[in-house]
Amino acid sequence: MSADSVKVAVRVRPFNQREKNANSKCVISMSGNATTITNPDNGKTHTFAFDYSYWSHDCFKEENGVFVSTDTKYADQNIVFNSLGKGVLDNAWQGYNAALFAYGQTGSGKSYSMIGYGPNRGIVPITCDELFKVIDQNTDKNKQLQVSYSMLEIYNEQVRDLLTKPSHGQRGGLKIRQHPQSGFFVEGLKSVPVRCYKEIERLMDDGTVNRTTASTNMNATSSRSHMVITIKFKQVFLNEFGESTTKSSEISLVDLAGSERADSTGATGDRLKEGSAINQSLSTLGNVISALADKAMGKKKVLVPYRDSVLTKLLQGALGGNSRTIMIAALSPAGINYEETLSTLRYADRAKKIQNKAKINESPTD
Ligand code: ADP
Ligand code: MG
Repeated sequence: MSADSVKVAVRVRPFNQREKNANSKCVISMSGNATTITNPDNGKTHTFAFDYSYWSHDCFKEENGVFVSTDTKYADQNIVFNSLGKGVLDNAWQGYNAALFAYGQTGSGKSYSMIGYGPNRGIVPITCDELFKVIDQNTDKNKQLQVSYSMLEIYNEQVRDLLTKPSHGQRGGLKIRQHPQSGFFVEGLKSVPVRCYKEIERLMDDGTVNRTTASTNMNATSSRSHMVITIKFKQVFLNEFGESTTKSSEISLVDLAGSERADSTGATGDRLKEGSAINQSLSTLGNVISALADKAMGKKKVLVPYRDSVLTKLLQGALGGNSRTIMIAALSPAGINYEETLSTLRYADRAKKIQNKAKINESPTD
């Protein structure tokens, strides 16, 4: 068993129109693995070190809608895939579970990095595409490769299957159950077998549309929900006696709700209640990360509050468990978001202390 720490990446996006209109200053700078944020009011700086740093703020041009670098400085989608997604794929082939989380305030670039928009495909679609490119080359009859896809959303501590169409005014959600060995799971969640990249792409598009429709129906925004995609990848090896062994990997890809605090959005009444329920998953995630960081620093008798939220129940394995995990912290470059961005950097700084215990999932097929 190998202990590996959660790897943390930071990525800073270009200014958006609002920030440009406000004549915002860029408060982020990156040099090597150091990321520095400067307080726009007093010039005070904080510097952090992360495993991966992606400068995607400027130095790019648009070619047929695709953002590509004009020099080596701008980290485009392929650069991010090459350093993060490739590792996820390698782990999957070796039979390790892997997880990738995107954290940051609404509009900071989480979905752009994870899923992407239009021709700017993010880590998830490129990873799936590359997985099938290798699968399609397999000509070995004694090796069967199986992939299945599921996609859910956690909203207000309720789980909804994103591969089923939302019905208007839908209330309640899928139940979470606990398996004595494999832990928490969502009862009745669709897990669709897929044979090619196009099928996954279609499911991902449908799920994304369902996520938006569901939130519109509930008069909310999808920035308040957490989205979890799970890809199960199985390699079944048959030997000459007709016996088989299975190597399996579960890849969890998580686009978290916006990390901004409910109080800064001016929420009241129902919205506030909803805000606090969403914060329950996000704040429990924070508490779980803190507890795991304390544990890794040698603190004894730490209780990790996995059971306090839906998100942390479902992602227990990815946090301090059997998984190789990456967190990508999405940063706004703008001075107006200084406080939120600083708190994202602090959150990410804590996450990198977590130690996981990943092992290869290999067993005789039953
Ligand atoms: P979030 O999911 O965190 O709310 P989005 O991923 O939707 O934020 O990003 C907000 C906007 O910023 C989108 O219009 C997106 O296209 C743009 N954007 C985010 N990251 C980048 C990037 N690295 N390069 C270019 N545009 C980006
Ligand atoms: Mg988003």
